[in-house]
Amino acid sequence: MKRFKDQIISELEKIKSDGLLRKMDILESGDFPYITVNGRHYINFSSNNYLALNGHKLIKEAMSQATEKYGTSASASRLISGNIEIFEQAEAILALFKGKESALIFNSGYQANLSVISTLFNEKDVIFSDELNHASIIDGCRLSKAKIFVYRHNDMNHLEDILQSTDGRRKVIITDGVFSMDGDIADLPQICYLAERYDAIVIVDDAHSTGVLGVNGAGTESHFGLKNDYIFVLGTGGKALGGGGAFFCCPKYVRDYLINRCRGFIYSTALPPSVPAGLIAAINIIKNETVRVSRLKELSLYIHKALKRLNINTSSAPSHITPIIIGDSLKTLNLAQNLLKNHIYVKAIRPPTVPPNTSRIRISLTSLHTEADIDKLISLLSPTAKEINVYESKRA
Ligand code: PMP
Repeated sequence: MKRFKDQIISELEKIKSDGLLRKMDILESGDFPYITVNGRHYINFSSNNYLALNGHKLIKEAMSQATEKYGTSASASRLISGNIEIFEQAEAILALFKGKESALIFNSGYQANLSVISTLFNEKDVIFSDELNHASIIDGCRLSKAKIFVYRHNDMNHLEDILQSTDGRRKVIITDGVFSMDGDIADLPQICYLAERYDAIVIVDDAHSTGVLGVNGAGTESHFGLKNDYIFVLGTGGKALGGGGAFFCCPKYVRDYLINRCRGFIYSTALPPSVPAGLIAAINIIKNETVRVSRLKELSLYIHKALKRLNINTSSAPSHITPIIIGDSLKTLNLAQNLLKNHIYVKAIRPPTVPPNTSRIRISLTSLHTEADIDKLISLLSPTAKEINVYESKRA
């Protein structure tokens, strides 16, 4: 027991001395996009509530009606007695929304990636994974025991090289749609071209594209005008859709297989029925209130131009996720602290969430931010930027 405690404490100390210690703040109110933490008010630039749907009246109504009708819990996994009709209704709507034959709801995006990838692929198979894919994809790939080839970020020549030289029972290319820490978009047209050429399927993690990109927020595939039945798509409910859970969209035979083999689906209590009800409402709102997406785009462009004017190291194109890449973890932490002191709520994103020497501040925008909110951030960054040499920082 003593040895265990000493080991853990010394590991924590090492994390701290590397400037990588994480702590959770406690939010007291969320009058979005302004929040209160420890009695201090902030403009929140750290939320994935991209379309400001969290708390939308129609979502609240749909969730409380579902709670009234079905109760507060599913009280069992879907295969036992938890398959309440609202799940199947939501899945039909979510599949249509993504332009796929079917969908299966999971309790979270993390759980879906882990369990879907490890169900569909095993040691006989080959996975091609972008180096900046989300942790849940990485963990799902590892759990599958498939051969994993990591290709350089969005580098289609590298992907083709390894596709050419590798074979297996099944091949899959897995990518984030919008990359969670960089805000850029996967080169899906080229990925699809390569998938067809080398007989692979494609899995796109649309956690950050759902609701934001494509026709009516359908996601990355729609953004590029693609429609292929060998592309399977993960959407999540906890970001733009203002709810929770996740949904894997795929052909029906894959859904049937997952229901029979996917441990993360089979052995987990279904979400409360209010969650699928909220997702149905969110999809309707996105279709009817298109101004949310166009406003988010305006703001993305506004901040991108402002950062470029300051010559700050950010993404190459405007996005609702805008990184300010500093490199060094402690400098990043200092910048975040300075912004916090000035009522701007941002987080220092450090390894292992991002690769070594690419620590950054990640600005997440929502359709409810204003130009004045962004101006305040920029006015604080301007002198600080020089101080911490962001101009000279380079991506590792
Ligand atoms: N994929 C990506 C790209 C993500 O950014 C996240 C969440 N940060 C997830 C999956 C996990 O989704 P969830 O939060 O629903 O577990």
